[in-house]
Amino acid sequence: MIANLRALAARTSDGHGAQRVAWGPVWRDARRWLDGLLAEEGLRAESDTAGNNWITVPGARPETVIIGGHLDSVPNGGWLDGPLGVLAGVEALRRYAGRTPPATLAVVDFADEEGARFSRSLLGSSGASGSLMPDSVRGLADRQGVRLAEALAENGVDLDRMPEARRALDQRHPRAYLELHIEQGPVLEAMGRSTGAVIGTYGVERHVLRFVGQAAHSGSTPIAMRRDAFLAAAETALACREIARRYSTPETGMVCTVGTVMVEPAIVTAVPGVCEIALDQRALEPVTLQSALADAREAASRAAVANKVSVQWRQVWRIDPCRFDPRLVALCAEAVEEVTGHAPRLPSGPLHDAVEMGRVMPAVMMFAVSTNGLSHCKEEDTPEADLEVTIEAFQRLIDKTVAMVAAE
Ligand SMILES: [Zn+2]
Repeated sequence: MIANLRALAARTSDGHGAQRVAWGPVWRDARRWLDGLLAEEGLRAESDTAGNNWITVPGARPETVIIGGHLDSVPNGGWLDGPLGVLAGVEALRRYAGRTPPATLAVVDFADEEGARFSRSLLGSSGASGSLMPDSVRGLADRQGVRLAEALAENGVDLDRMPEARRALDQRHPRAYLELHIEQGPVLEAMGRSTGAVIGTYGVERHVLRFVGQAAHSGSTPIAMRRDAFLAAAETALACREIARRYSTPETGMVCTVGTVMVEPAIVTAVPGVCEIALDQRALEPVTLQSALADAREAASRAAVANKVSVQWRQVWRIDPCRFDPRLVALCAEAVEEVTGHAPRLPSGPLHDAVEMGRVMPAVMMFAVSTNGLSHCKEEDTPEADLEVTIEAFQRLIDKTVAMVAAE
C-alpha cells in the first residue's frame, strides 16, 4: 500500500509537489491509475452523479461500511492527504478478496474534497450527503474565469444532478463511515504517538472586520491625535490570541487566527485610515465557538473605541462543529490501542469528507502523525514505521466495524 502511495505521488507530482487538482487532467490521470490498480484485483469503480467513484464488495448482508478518501490535492500538495484514505480502503477490499465479508464494504474516492480551484471544499461529499445546494455554487469560477458547471461538465458531472447522489447513497444501506487521514498538524508528533482516534471536527466562524479611522500624515500627526485603523485591528488580533488561550482545553483545544491584513492607504508615511483583517475561529463545542465569537466582538469594539475608529463585521462563512459517533470513536481508540499501545483522542482542525458523511450515518476518522505538522506542501510526510502501524490499526477498525454492523 505504501509503495502504491509512492507510485501515485511519482506519477502525479512535479518538483513543487502533487498536482492532482480536482476536475483537471492530472486528477483524471490519478483516477485512471486507480482504475488500473483495481483491475488487478478484479474490482471496478462506478461514478455517482456527484462525480464520486465507488468500489463495492458485496457482503453477506446489504448493510454497508463505507471507507472514504480523496485523490484530489491542492496545487503543490503532498502525497498522503487524501490518497491515504482511498488506498487504505482498497487494501481492505484486497484483504477480503475471495471471501464474502459479513457486511458489505464500499470504498469511495470523493471528488473535489479540497476546493482548491473553485474555493468550495467537500463538493463531491456534500453532493452525496444531499447538503449541496447547486445554486449556492453556480456562480463560482476559477482564476481563469472557467465556471464550476463547465469544469464539472468536462468530467461528465451535471451540477444540478449532484444532490441526486444522496438517493444512491441511501440505497446502499449505509451504516458506518470510516476515514484514515494524516493529522496535518503537530499534536500527535508532540505527544510522540503514531496514531490517534479523532473525536470530531472543529466548527468554524469566519469574519472580515473592517476598521475605519482617518488617514493622516505620519510626521505631523501626534500619537494621541491619531485614528489608526491598523492599531485597532492589531489590538483585536492580540485579544483573539488571549480568547483562544482562555477557551482552549487539553481535550478539545480551540483556535483563533487573523490570517490576512489589508491597510489603506498602505504608504509608509501615512497613518492607516482603513484596515481589514480576516478572523477565523474554530472550536469543537458549539457553546465555546459562540462565546469566543462574542468575546472577539467585544474586544474589537473596545479596540475601536480606544483608537477612535469604527468597526464593522461581515460574516464570510460558518459551519457547525461535528462530533463523531461515540461508539465508532471507542472502536477506533480500541483498534489504535491494540496496535500502538496508546489511544490518544484528538479533534480535527481541518474539515474532512467525514463531516458530510456524518450527516448520513455514524462516522469516525483515524489520524496518522504528520512530520513537523506539515501538510498541503511537498514536505508533507509521515515516517514509514508510523504509517505501517496506523494502516494496521485502521484495518482492525474496519474489521471491528464490519463485525458490529453485521451483528446489528
Ligand atoms: Zn484531505
